[in-house]
Amino acid sequence: MHDRVYNFNPGPSTLPLSVLEQAQRELFNYKGTGMSVMEISHRSKEFEAIIQRAETLIKELSGVGDNYRVLFIQGGASLQFDMIPMNFLPEGKTADYIITGAFAEKAYKEAKKMGAANVAATTEAENFRRVPRPDEIKLTDDAAYAHITTNNTIFGTQWHYTPDTDNIPLIADMSSDILSRPMDMNKFSLVYAGAQKNLGPSGVGVILIRQDLLERVAPNVPTMLRYDTYAKNDSLYNTPPTFGIYMIGLVLEWIKEKGGLPAMERHNMEKAGYIYEAIDKSSGFYTGHAEKESRSLMNITFRLPSEELDKKFLNEAAARNLVGLKGHRSVGGMRASVYNAMSKPGCLALAEFMDSFRKNYA
Ligand SMILES: *Cc1c(COP(=O)(O)O)cnc(C)c1O
Repeated sequence: MHDRVYNFNPGPSTLPLSVLEQAQRELFNYKGTGMSVMEISHRSKEFEAIIQRAETLIKELSGVGDNYRVLFIQGGASLQFDMIPMNFLPEGKTADYIITGAFAEKAYKEAKKMGAANVAATTEAENFRRVPRPDEIKLTDDAAYAHITTNNTIFGTQWHYTPDTDNIPLIADMSSDILSRPMDMNKFSLVYAGAQKNLGPSGVGVILIRQDLLERVAPNVPTMLRYDTYAKNDSLYNTPPTFGIYMIGLVLEWIKEKGGLPAMERHNMEKAGYIYEAIDKSSGFYTGHAEKESRSLMNITFRLPSEELDKKFLNEAAARNLVGLKGHRSVGGMRASVYNAMSKPGCLALAEFMDSFRKNYA
């Protein structure tokens, strides 16, 4: 109908079709303004309603208390790698980083440029096949904060527990699994995500921050890099990425309509289940990269017996409208990214293709 493919791209990634259709319907004339959302003022009452509703929905869906703010900051997740230590790593203090993949490593490297950063645990020696066990995490006494990456997009692993950091503020990069499952978000002092995986288009960073951390922003941080600037001005200090925030709002309404995070988790478990099953029953034709206890429900990484078969797999998959499956160069093989918006039929089609490809080439 729309010539849509099953899009397994890691990010930017697939969006719900109903969201795209609504954006299309509203494109020329948003709510009787005679203008597109892209053309209205960020100070108009229409846009204020959009941004306020997005904040309300994120708080409601994630279940955080009123002591949290939601901020929309340009620069994606990567700018947060810099803003976090700039705002919250004072001289004389150490920040703890748990390294579970390439993005965690990037975040750590940025912190190191600005102050004392410590690796509290790493699974690099095992090529990031798993996240650390609680007994492997060695936090610094009185650390400024501890940082984790809840889902490792490249390696296909995910934390299935929240580390206990006691009174050290816990900060999480949730770019690739935000709002994909119920979690106790109140355990986190700051959560951030680039929108392009589970929330909408690229370029917008979504930040959930607890009030007590907001009050700790270092004094000499420049205006545009301070969390309190965005909090005081309801993310409207300057012109925000208005269209991106509008799209995030539509995706949030879609998540709510589907039944919120419990429904998302059921949907994601079922979807990932089809693909992991195709790996597990393949008698070694497909090898999963992640250890079972650390498997991600969002990014499923696996290899085939040879690089030649990798190429054949990608070509034959594309012929069946299954696209975006090439793995990251640091892992090789395949990666199926199956965020909230990937449909069940898409995952079933991939699992069926995996079975038939194996039968033809094993
Ligand atoms: C994609 C991704 C990033 C980078 O996001 P940008 O918006 O491109 O900066 C950071 N962390 C994780 C876990 C990611 O998946």
